[in-house]
Amino acid sequence: MEHSFIAWAKQRAARLPKVKLGIGDDCALIGSESLDSNRQDLVVTTDSLCDGTHFILSECGARAAGRKLMAVNLSDLASMAATPIAVFLSLCLPRKEAGDIAAQVFEGVHDLASKYQVSIAGGDTNVWEGPLCLNLTALGKVPLDGGWLRSGASAGDAIVVTGHLGGSILGKHLSFEPRLSVAMRLRELGLVSASTDISDGLGVDLLSMAVASKCGAEVSLEKIPVSEAAVQSAKSSGKTAIDHALGDGEDFELILAVPASGLKQLPAEIDGVTLTQVGNFVSRTGLWSRDKGGVKQLPPKGYVHGSKFSEHEPQGYEDR
Ligand SMILES: [Mg+2]
Repeated sequence: MEHSFIAWAKQRAARLPKVKLGIGDDCALIGSESLDSNRQDLVVTTDSLCDGTHFILSECGARAAGRKLMAVNLSDLASMAATPIAVFLSLCLPRKEAGDIAAQVFEGVHDLASKYQVSIAGGDTNVWEGPLCLNLTALGKVPLDGGWLRSGASAGDAIVVTGHLGGSILGKHLSFEPRLSVAMRLRELGLVSASTDISDGLGVDLLSMAVASKCGAEVSLEKIPVSEAAVQSAKSSGKTAIDHALGDGEDFELILAVPASGLKQLPAEIDGVTLTQVGNFVSRTGLWSRDKGGVKQLPPKGYVHGSKFSEHEPQGYEDR
């Protein structure tokens, strides 16, 4: 099926923005019309999703899986304040209905490529006896040395989160919007010193920022913007809605460090997405919660479903 799929995909991608050379040769070429390397850094991220771990193909369908694949990668670009340029899609397809699944995954990727004007510039397909496994590599650009890193926070910076947190398993993990427009606006405003996106849970991802920044993080639990889905989840889980907001993974909201000097200029919302201060980075290392009872250490519980090499060792499921 590969050649007919590639021919179809090439045509399907033709109305998206182009790179110098896209689908069809041994490699793609990214030219200076996509990236001015004297003034911009190239930002690269990759993510893999597998049936049974990150989505259930028989429940959500291949298009939703493809959309999620694209969205998680765009979320990583958003967390670095990068403007997306192009993506590369690789598929390991179950033999049964391989061609149909490939086309549906492609459509899911295309949905967001079209929305955010990103080139689909290449990829690879394989058929095998295993479940559907997807990989996508995304390229983006930022002004030279202008990308947000996890390591840029300082004690005293505000901890700000986008949107509402928790309970993503009830649907948001498939349908979330990558926070690109929020990131682009905040990059223009120049208010952010560090950032990451919430894939493993607010607690885990916030701690990773604090560790990278050689400081600690103190959260006011009552300020965490709890989602309706977190409230729903708490009705049957035996946990509180705040536990869900802190520990559930796959919110794909942004955690931002905002220096005190810029906090007054921070909009309350951007494009309908709320920005909420939930605490501050502090000089005492570790993850802490502050409430009426004082300051307590928070166990960084989260949903660790495999990680990037740059993050931590894969650990399998935890606390879910
Ligand atoms: Mg990330």
